[in-house]
Amino acid sequence: MTASISPTLVRRIRSARHVTAFTGAGISAESGVPTFRGTDGIWVKFKPEELATMDAFMRNPELVWEWYVHRKKVIAEVRPNAGHEALVALERLCPHFAVITQNIDNLHRRAGSTTVYELHGNIERNYCMECGERVSNEAVLASSGVPQCPSCGGKVRPDVVWFGEMLPENEWEGAVRAARSSDVFFSIGTSAVVYPAASLPLMARESGAYLVEINPEPTPLTDHADEFLCGPAGEILPAIVRAVTGTRSTGASPIHSD
Ligand SMILES: [Zn+2]
Repeated sequence: MTASISPTLVRRIRSARHVTAFTGAGISAESGVPTFRGTDGIWVKFKPEELATMDAFMRNPELVWEWYVHRKKVIAEVRPNAGHEALVALERLCPHFAVITQNIDNLHRRAGSTTVYELHGNIERNYCMECGERVSNEAVLASSGVPQCPSCGGKVRPDVVWFGEMLPENEWEGAVRAARSSDVFFSIGTSAVVYPAASLPLMARESGAYLVEINPEPTPLTDHADEFLCGPAGEILPAIVRAVTGTRSTGASPIHSD
């Protein structure tokens, strides 16, 4: 089955200078990234809200690191899907293309996207809490217990945004800039309820972007979108790429682009 892509959307993308894709947990779930909520072995008794905080880390850094090492290993086994790959294809078709993601799994970069604003950090990166030095994932995974900074001996933490922490300023500013300059803005696989990130699609629309939502079910954003494409990103995004490039997949109905 092929999602039908409107001629208007095809025309908008072909003529756009700036296109932005804002992604959430849905696109990662299609790759099999678990939510790490209460289904997995010994971690069943912890909620992310109880481990992904500075308080938890100060109280019991060994436990928090054990959880992150587990998560890093799970995510390392996951691969980008057709949705991630279609966003890479769109980047090549558009003069300016940015991904803004709430996901920490690094799948956009692994797929090949080059401009990625990571609002909640990246689980494959780590830094020293004392001096800020970056510490490689290999070094972290090779150490036992709480990894230490090779320069100053300080505690190393994963480069992710914990509950109660601010979004990284540079990433947020870049995301706002991308949203405000967008001619077409996609909101993909996100429930569009967690602020401040959820304000980005509306910011884009206020600045004149054509707002397209892709999600398996309607969200609070749906009524504000110019188009709502109902379904998985891994099917709809490749259909958009085919429509924009004018290629047809087997069995697809002809796509008219006026
Ligand atoms: Zn250090």
